Amino acid sequence: MQLSIDGAGGIDGASGIDGASGNNDDVPAGHAVSRLRADRIARSSRPFLARGSRTDRCPKCRVSFAHCLCAACPTVRTHGNSAFCLLMHEAEPMKPSNTGWLVADVVADTHAFTWARTNADPRMLALLSDPRRQPYLVFPAHAAQPERVVTTVEASPGGRRPLFVLLDGTWAEARKMFRKSPYLDRFPVLGLTADGPARYRLRRTKCDAHLCTAEVAASCLRLAGEPDSADALDAWLDTFVDLSMRLRGQPVQE
Ligand SMILES: [Zn+2]
Repeated sequence: MQLSIDGAGGIDGASGIDGASGNNDDVPAGHAVSRLRADRIARSSRPFLARGSRTDRCPKCRVSFAHCLCAACPTVRTHGNSAFCLLMHEAEPMKPSNTGWLVADVVADTHAFTWARTNADPRMLALLSDPRRQPYLVFPAHAAQPERVVTTVEASPGGRRPLFVLLDGTWAEARKMFRKSPYLDRFPVLGLTADGPARYRLRRTKCDAHLCTAEVAASCLRLAGEPDSADALDAWLDTFVDLSMRLRGQPVQE
């Protein structure tokens, strides 16, 4: 099914709340990824059928109502120096296993857009061109031209705030996005490697070292000198994965 993705999504869930915290605008239900999902539903004439999509789910945490995780969800999102721009494959906001959602739960300055090779969302292009931000395209270093790769992040490069661009999809989709997004070609590639066992076990992957989106985001926050935010995101991911694995009847790894 090919949907029109011109101009779809890309709701800037975080603009205007920099520096704010703990107010009603800060509830995860209204974050960028949940709005992208709502937008996707509104534009689709057919229901999205993916694994687990027939279960009645809490709209905030996406877990079945009987196991709603909202009580464990961070209630106040972090307002650090770093921001995230999630470029999501069109199906990704609809998947209950998506972890870009968890990034938006935790980090206030998270933006989400539907990926498109051409006719990219003008709001995304404006975000990437914001002179107050330094975008880093986060992707495995081995897949990038060596001259583009960086392995460290300056907290305020040239007075700008780091903007981590994450390609959110399956590994195959992310590789395609990486190769076919000319508007990203000018940015440095932040090459990450898995430095421990991947937390995320909800999806099988052909590449065991491939980290999930929330793990990648936590690594970015650590590199940017924001360990508390990284810990909050890791903890939320662990909670989400552990419950999801139990609901699938699989053992939880220690
Ligand atoms: Zn819930």
